[in-house]
Amino acid sequence: MKTIDAINFAGKRALVRVDFNVPLDKKTLAIADDTRISAAMPTIHKILNDGGAVILMSHLGRPIKKLKEDGTIDIEKYTLKNILNRVSDFTGKPVKFAPDCIGAEATQMASELQPGEVLLLENLRFYKEEEKGDAGFAKKLSTYADVYVNDAFGTAHRAHTSIAVIAQFFPQAKCIGYVMAKEIANAEKLMNNAKRPFTAIIGGAKVSDKLLILENLINTVDNIIIGGGMAYTFLKSMGYEIGSSLCEDDRLELCQQLIKKAKIKGVKLLLPADSVVADAFSNDANHKVCNNKLIEKGWMGLDIGPISTQEFSVIIKQSQTILWNGPMGVFEMSNYEKGTKGVANAVVEATQNGAFSLIGGGDSAAAVAQFGCQKHVSYVSTGGGALLEYFEGKELPGIKAIND
Ligand code: AMP
Repeated sequence: MKTIDAINFAGKRALVRVDFNVPLDKKTLAIADDTRISAAMPTIHKILNDGGAVILMSHLGRPIKKLKEDGTIDIEKYTLKNILNRVSDFTGKPVKFAPDCIGAEATQMASELQPGEVLLLENLRFYKEEEKGDAGFAKKLSTYADVYVNDAFGTAHRAHTSIAVIAQFFPQAKCIGYVMAKEIANAEKLMNNAKRPFTAIIGGAKVSDKLLILENLINTVDNIIIGGGMAYTFLKSMGYEIGSSLCEDDRLELCQQLIKKAKIKGVKLLLPADSVVADAFSNDANHKVCNNKLIEKGWMGLDIGPISTQEFSVIIKQSQTILWNGPMGVFEMSNYEKGTKGVANAVVEATQNGAFSLIGGGDSAAAVAQFGCQKHVSYVSTGGGALLEYFEGKELPGIKAIND
C-alpha cells in the first residue's frame, strides 16, 4: 500500500483526512482527550517539512443525528473551531479555519494556502452527503488539493465520502498517513506473525457485536477469554441461571456453536466462573460475589469475580501475544472495576515479560487509560470498530480506496 513516505509534498497541497473526533466536555466543550490530535502530527509535519501545505478535514460527533429541538444543527457543539487552538498548539503554528468545508470561501482559502501553512475545514458531517458516500461532495472537496492522504484509522471501516469515495479523484496521488500505517502494521503483526501462545480477551456489553470477530479468532488463537456483559449469553447457553444479567436470547444457539467450534479446533475458551453481582445497575446498589452457575433472580453480573480474574490472569501471563477488546465489567463504576483492572495488570505483566499486547480501541483503551497502563502495553489502537472489522477479515473501505 502506498504510504506517505512515497510522496514528496514540495509545492503541493495535501488534503488529509484525519480523525479529530475527540471527546469534549459536555458543559464547557473543552477537549477531554487530545490523543487523536497529537497522533496526526507526524503526518502533518512530514508534509510541511517537505515544503507542502496541509488541508485538514475531519468529522466531530454526529451533528445530523443529534439535531437541536428546532431541527437545526447544533453548530456551537459540533464545530471544529472548538479544537482549532489545540491543533495550532500541536502543529506549532497558527492553523487557519474554513467556516464551511465546501463553498466559495473554503475554495479560496485552499487556493491561497502557501507551503508551510495549515488549513482546517469545518466539520464534514454538517453535510448529510459525508456519510452517504456522495461522489459530487467528494469531487468538490477534491478540488482543493493535489494529493489525498487518509490518516483516519478510527473511521476507515466507514464507506463515507471523505474515506472511501474521494480517493478516486486522486488516482495517482493518494496514500495512507503514519497513523494508518502504524495501525495496519500492528494489526498485521498480530494476525500473521503472532508468537504463541496467542490469547484473545474479548469483553464488553453485547455478544452480537463480537460474534464475527470471535468466529474469526477461533481460527487463529490458542486461548479465548470471554468476560463482560457478553459472557452471560454464553453462560445461559450452557444452562446456567444468570438472573437479570445482560443476555441476548437470540444469540444462544450461536454461542453454543462457538463453544463447540472452539473444542473441535483445540482452542481453549474460558468463561468466568464467578461474578460480582448487584441488585441494580448502579454503583450504590447492594453487591456481592457469587458463583456463575447460579445467579439469583433480581441480581445481575456487573463484573467478573476474583476466581475468574485469577484464572484469566494465569493464562494471560503465559501468553506471548495478546489481543484485548472490551472490558470485563462495568469498569466505569468503582465497585465493578476490579476484574478489568486485574486483567489489565496481567496484560502489563505479560508485556513486561516479553509478550506483544495490542489493546483494541474504544472502551478497552479507556479502561487501560483509567488504570494508567497505556505506557506498559505494546500498542493501544485508536480504532475500536475499525480494528474489529480488520480482524473479522474485512477489507476496510478506507484501505481499499487507497489500494484500488
Ligand atoms: P462494548 O462497547 O461492547 O465494548 O461495551 C463496553 C461497555 O460494556 C462498557 O461501557 C461497560 O460498562 C459495559 N459492560 C461491561 N460488562 C458489563 C456487564 N456485565 N453488564 C453490563 N454492561 C457491561
